[in-house]
Amino acid sequence: MDLKLESPVKAVKGVGEKTAGIFAKQGINTVFDLLFHFPLDYIDFSTPADGIDLQQKKVYRVEIENFRLSRIYWKKLTILNVNAKISTGTGPPKKEEKIRVVFFNKPYLSDFFRERTAPAADPGQAGKKTPLDNGLSANTGEKNSSVYLYGQMEKKPGFFQLSSPMVFSGTGMPAVQPLYHAISTIKNGTLRKLMGNIFAVLEDDCECLPPWILEKYGFPAIAAALSGIHLPAQYNPGVIDRLKSRFIYREFLFFQLELQYTRNFFKKVKRLNHYVIDRKVKQSVDANVEFELTADQVKAYADIVNDLKSDFAMQRLLQGDVGSGKTIIAFLALLLARENGFQGAFLAPTEILTNQHFSSAKRFFKDAEVEVLTGSTPPAARARIYERLLAGEIDIIFGTHSLLNENVRFKNLSLVVIDEQHRFGVSQRAALYYKGLSVDLLVTTATPIPRTMLLSLYNDLSVSLIETKPRGRLPIITKIVANRARDEFYRRLKGKVEQGNKVYIILPLVEESEFFAELRSIEKETPYFKEVFVGLPMGIVSGRTPADRKDKTLAEFAAGKIEILVSTTVIEVGIDVKDATIIVIEDADRYGLSQLHQLRGRVGRGGQQSFCYLIPSVNISESGKQRLLTTASTDDGFKIAEIDLEMRGGGIITGLEQSGYLDFRIGDVKRDREVFAAARRDAASMLQDESLLNGHSARFLEQVKQKTRSINFS
Ligand code: ADP
Ligand code: MG
Repeated sequence: MDLKLESPVKAVKGVGEKTAGIFAKQGINTVFDLLFHFPLDYIDFSTPADGIDLQQKKVYRVEIENFRLSRIYWKKLTILNVNAKISTGTGPPKKEEKIRVVFFNKPYLSDFFRERTAPAADPGQAGKKTPLDNGLSANTGEKNSSVYLYGQMEKKPGFFQLSSPMVFSGTGMPAVQPLYHAISTIKNGTLRKLMGNIFAVLEDDCECLPPWILEKYGFPAIAAALSGIHLPAQYNPGVIDRLKSRFIYREFLFFQLELQYTRNFFKKVKRLNHYVIDRKVKQSVDANVEFELTADQVKAYADIVNDLKSDFAMQRLLQGDVGSGKTIIAFLALLLARENGFQGAFLAPTEILTNQHFSSAKRFFKDAEVEVLTGSTPPAARARIYERLLAGEIDIIFGTHSLLNENVRFKNLSLVVIDEQHRFGVSQRAALYYKGLSVDLLVTTATPIPRTMLLSLYNDLSVSLIETKPRGRLPIITKIVANRARDEFYRRLKGKVEQGNKVYIILPLVEESEFFAELRSIEKETPYFKEVFVGLPMGIVSGRTPADRKDKTLAEFAAGKIEILVSTTVIEVGIDVKDATIIVIEDADRYGLSQLHQLRGRVGRGGQQSFCYLIPSVNISESGKQRLLTTASTDDGFKIAEIDLEMRGGGIITGLEQSGYLDFRIGDVKRDREVFAAARRDAASMLQDESLLNGHSARFLEQVKQKTRSINFS
């Protein structure tokens, strides 16, 4: 039987119904999908291991000979102990250390070891070691051959211990063994066997890259590359990386084909909704704005007006750090739609944020019909909203994901705002888009994506940048509070609350968790806070709080009836309480840099001096410390994003990975940025001239086209 890359994974020898089911759950359906599960690392039998450095938690290979074997029965367990000596350190002089190897319930291994301890038949051969240096282990047929063990080393008093390592004898083993990360319950050993079975019968039938690409970059053919990655004859990381690069390229290329196709598709939409922006509309806009817009806000608004007057539908990204004032610009765009007799929709990522926007909208859009639709809207009210939207009785609708529901239909939707765009994926963006004709789209984000990234990720969207914050804002002062000074800190904080400061206290957990025993929870800390802040009004919200209670508590906090709000990160994005001046973040090192910056952005939204206090967790890590120091050192979201990128590499900006934008399986936008750029250019040429595609890539593009045409509203 010949296996093809596109064959179902069940066609592989050794994959039954059950295994196929497990693979399917992990998105592995074809032979190619399985082969795309690259080895995490390799065991190299051709060169001796370096010295043992326990700081490095890695798998060690050790070679033992002249060992002593003992078997113990203990509480129904068969324990096999192998005692030997190993040389450690790269020397010279080489050091000798004692090692104990322990196996549980593997009685058959005792035969394996016993055979190798028996004295050799020819006394002259005794103690002679099987050569290690030729890798492919000459099978000398000798007894007393070495045993190779692979496992994680532990230091015990006076010896090293290896528990349940992998065992190989010196005979008949390959020079290089791939090590796989388990796929669900399917472990390394099984995977290795399956990969072997595939290559035994694999037919080289499906080249996924066009021949001119292979030639241009000198990539090897697909089957040769795959077998070189899974079953390399020699361990040479450089060569293996080179083989992998064609798959990294492919991953980026297909991503770019999809992205650019979708973008072009949206970009070329001819405008059908025509706007008149005359004096009357301008007066209405002026009447609704209570404060003086900043220069950047004025510019952003002008960009939008220009877009709405152009021949094509708007595709604009409004980018600005937390608190820079993006909402008002989005509201003004919606107002323009309303004044021209169109409907608008405002999509926000959380219910809390949606309700907050809705209540400011009721004040802002004085005589317009505004409504809100979220997961907690009761069925009857929901049905009524559906009707009124279709009849055109609602001018502007605010909502969460509930707006994407297929029952949400409009009479003449023309403008869609997506707040905090990084929380939504491309298809969600498209779903709302299809609810109107040539819809104008404005997306906002506070995720300060560095400029270089912005270019490659959002090059379909025109960008309006709000760089300066409204006048009179003071930079937030950020301080790290030592854990041991926590009680003292809260006592002083009480004094500040009594002087009229409004405080957020952020905790990582709702209730205690056995997995994060060291982290603080709302449940556990509430009695403590009640005691510390006795006599002061305190409110609590978390993801578990019912929506109406959440809103009530937040409204009370905004109104000043509550002065201390204890919360989880549910208040992370967008929440705007102008006169909140202090935020305390507990176990702060457990958050990413961008998330800390977002949380901190809940304060400093008015003219008063605001403070952010970071309390580290008990077991703070080195990188956690760095994150706190970075957060304390700057208030500039762009700088933080750049540092974040430096510290964590590509594919990481918090929030962005959720949208799948940077979530590559093997590619890394930062490490492989040249490959990324090349794939972007090539994808553009292929979309210009589709004859540059080959069979496989053409089929892929066809699927993208179909998907774009029939976006699924769910
Ligand atoms: P974000 O950009 O994080 O979404 P918001 O739009 O919520 O920020 O604005 C933050 C706060 O600043 C709000 O209370 C808003 O009313 C206020 N604000 C926005 N623009 C101005 C301005 N030009 N002058 C004064 N305050 C402003
Ligand atoms: Mg906002």
